[in-house]
Amino acid sequence: MPDVKKYDIIIAGAGMSGLSLAWYLAKGGYKGKVLLTDKSFAPHNTKTWCFWTKDQPPFSEIIYRKWRKSYFSGLGFDSYLYMNEHCYYCIRENDFKEYVLSELRNHKNFTLLEESILDFSSNKSKAVLVTKDSHTYLADYIFQSIFSPSEQISYSIKYPLIQHFLGYEIKTNSPKFDAETFTIMDVDTSFKKGFAFMYVLPFRDNKALVEFTVFSPEPMKKKKYKKKIRKFLKKKLGLEKEDYKIIRKEYGEIPMNDQPAIPFYSSEKVINLGTMAGLTKPSTGYTFKRVQDFSKQLAESLIQTGKPESSAPSKFRYRYYDLLLLHILANSTEDSQRVFRDLFKNNSLDLLFDFLSEDTNFGQDLKVMSSVPYAPFLKAISKNLIP
Ligand SMILES: Cc1cc2nc3c(=O)[nH]c(=O)nc-3n(C[C@H](O)[C@H](O)[C@H](O)COP(=O)(O)OP(=O)(O)OC[C@H]3O[C@@H](n4cnc5c(N)ncnc54)[C@H](O)[C@@H]3O)c2cc1C
Repeated sequence: MPDVKKYDIIIAGAGMSGLSLAWYLAKGGYKGKVLLTDKSFAPHNTKTWCFWTKDQPPFSEIIYRKWRKSYFSGLGFDSYLYMNEHCYYCIRENDFKEYVLSELRNHKNFTLLEESILDFSSNKSKAVLVTKDSHTYLADYIFQSIFSPSEQISYSIKYPLIQHFLGYEIKTNSPKFDAETFTIMDVDTSFKKGFAFMYVLPFRDNKALVEFTVFSPEPMKKKKYKKKIRKFLKKKLGLEKEDYKIIRKEYGEIPMNDQPAIPFYSSEKVINLGTMAGLTKPSTGYTFKRVQDFSKQLAESLIQTGKPESSAPSKFRYRYYDLLLLHILANSTEDSQRVFRDLFKNNSLDLLFDFLSEDTNFGQDLKVMSSVPYAPFLKAISKNLIP
């Protein structure tokens, strides 16, 4: 009989959500035995996570950059947007991994295991993790951020959009960026196959991440994003190829769809985390802050009761607003451009961030919604009378 190792909790996948849960458990004084497992713990700096908050930011010690000033451009509206209450933060993936893993190594009840996971199963009392090398690990609960839950695969999505992007982190030969101002959207009205924009995070006056981003159903060939970035750098900043060096690339595809959040992978013993739990905000793709709030709540419940309790990621009305915006994004690039332009033109960034954080009252929702063209929303409502 092979030796089967037993734990109280297994965290399968040590990416953003797995590490976040492990962090809140460790910092909250969880006493059970935890196995944290991933196919690799090696650093690979492929992501920068940005988020906004009015409060003290999570992981404040490793915030790489922060901004209070933003820039929006699109359909004749070009403006600086100032935040009085919020701040926009950026954390680099490697800093996050290193910081969390070094903390976990100080906790004797946490075991880190580098192995590729094959699947999970469960019975009434235990959850089982099987690795590709046929090793088996048992726990009361598995928290996983690796595989799509089977229910999710069978759900028929009405608006199957993704946010796809390619970014170059570049270093220029001379100062070219205003390091105090990030570009939230520089809308590309020449792009017709989806809502597209450039997103720029200036880290220094000669260093920035410049990302071409599209909301549409399909990703594109890499050379198309590259062409857009090169063109933007030339047109907006006068930069020829020889004026900058590419020091890092970042590619992503983030789900933006109407799939309901699925809390469990296969049974209540195997619980989804992160993107697999539907924690990505459908209309924006932002995930980091929602994962922090969710993981904190989950860890507190495990510490206090031994049971994993957490609330649904979104209230009904916000899910409905997301659905309407997804309808517009999926059906008309022109309407999408007008809606985003008017959102930024007619509202403060603080109010928009509250709205997108699902932290507004109904009066504020009405203010935001009355700031955009009615016709696309009325069409979207007529197609989604039963959400
Ligand atoms: C390039 C990029 C940039 C992003 N930027 C932002 C941002 O600025 N703000 C924001 O809010 N969101 C952002 N997101 C969205 C989201 O925050 C990230 O995708 C985030 O990493 C999701 O966390 P996760 O834990 O669900 O998945 P991941 O972080 O991808 O973690 C999954 C883990 O599972 C492991 N794994 C996979 N298969 C196996 C296997 N078979 N066996 C063992 N381990 C396995 C992987 O190695 C990985 O560590 C970004 C996404 C991408 C792709």
